[in-house]
Amino acid sequence: MGKSSKDKRDAYYRLAKEQGWRARSAFKLLQLDEEFDLFANVSRVVDLCAAPGSWSQVLSRVLIKGETFGRAAWQDREAKFRQQMLGVLPAQTAEQQRAQLEAELAQQVTESKPRKDVKIVSIDLQPISPLAGITTLRADITHPATVPLLLSALDPEYDAAALNGNNQASQPVDLVISDGAPDVTGLHDLDIYVQSQLLFAALNLALCVLKPGGKFVAKIFRGRNVDVLYAQLKIFFERVVVAKPRSSRASSVEAFIVCLNFRPPPGFRASLNEPLGVGDRLDRMVAQRAMQKPIVADVLMQDPARASWSSLEPPAFSTAGDQVPELKVYDETEDTWQEQKHVRWIAPFVACGDLSAFDSDASYQLPDDYVSLDPVQPPIAPPYKRAIEMRAAGLSR
Ligand code: SAM
Repeated sequence: MGKSSKDKRDAYYRLAKEQGWRARSAFKLLQLDEEFDLFANVSRVVDLCAAPGSWSQVLSRVLIKGETFGRAAWQDREAKFRQQMLGVLPAQTAEQQRAQLEAELAQQVTESKPRKDVKIVSIDLQPISPLAGITTLRADITHPATVPLLLSALDPEYDAAALNGNNQASQPVDLVISDGAPDVTGLHDLDIYVQSQLLFAALNLALCVLKPGGKFVAKIFRGRNVDVLYAQLKIFFERVVVAKPRSSRASSVEAFIVCLNFRPPPGFRASLNEPLGVGDRLDRMVAQRAMQKPIVADVLMQDPARASWSSLEPPAFSTAGDQVPELKVYDETEDTWQEQKHVRWIAPFVACGDLSAFDSDASYQLPDDYVSLDPVQPPIAPPYKRAIEMRAAGLSR
């Protein structure tokens, strides 16, 4: 399989190279932003599991350079490819293609207002090629030592000893994003388990650094436990949605959990001694919250005619044992409130990126003279590098 056939099969891979992104993942973040306005009122961000750095590039262009991206970033490209195939547009060299795309992108920037006091910290196990204005750290997000590392990157005055074990950032951030993914084994349950460990590591870091009202976005693999995760995250965020950007293949279990308006329970302190996702602290919090707050949906009360499951608060189905709290739903036909028990929560799901965006599962015919570009920034030290070296040296098959 040549480069060109991958370009044909994966429009976002091709487009990423054309537009100068280090990875096709950039489009996932752009499409999530389209739906949730993630970058509104944001200037301090932590990007977890950031290598090779396309999400950090998006942050750099939006926050540091002040560019605005929208649907225009891909809208006319499909039409242009059709024209090239029909020979309406002349063949171009790679340099001409890049120059033209840069000009197009420059036109698409509707506003250029660099933001004030921008701080972006990006972390990955792998080295990240430098990006102007961004602090990059090479660290494992699941390791407790990464918390003080991140806190001192966010605040040069940070003094772990003086804070006496307090893990709360003195200069908190507006947004934490995590695109963390383990090396997939193909064993579905194992992959989901390892992915969930990365998610909790990201959440624990986010709880140390987010300011009230902040946002958290993390990659998940959709499985049976999404409803439990939803109930857990609703303890800390007002709105929680599972989102699937159009650039994420429909055939993949990947999705993103988007959590808006951080509002931790009163008195909550992130603790390295009792991180969430280990032990039963989180389960206890879910149960406690459900007990404190009668689970009668506010939205249903306001507008029963438009009632939907997604407007209900999550019940403590997983931990409350036989103390399942009372849950009432409005029955339209009977015009009464009915008591429900043992209801499973269904997390709201949104597909984002409009239909004019490329379909990530489709193959696109390219013009015969289409010039395939090299990746913008190949990984510096990918995990498979040693395997390739060993194979080249005849040490493995
Ligand atoms: N968002 C990135 C971008 O736009 O370029 C792509 C991220 S890539 C899909 C997943 C990354 O997760 C890999 O670079 C991998 O090294 C990183 N990762 C996996 N486990 C990690 C861990 N425990 N700590 C830090 N990074 C981790």
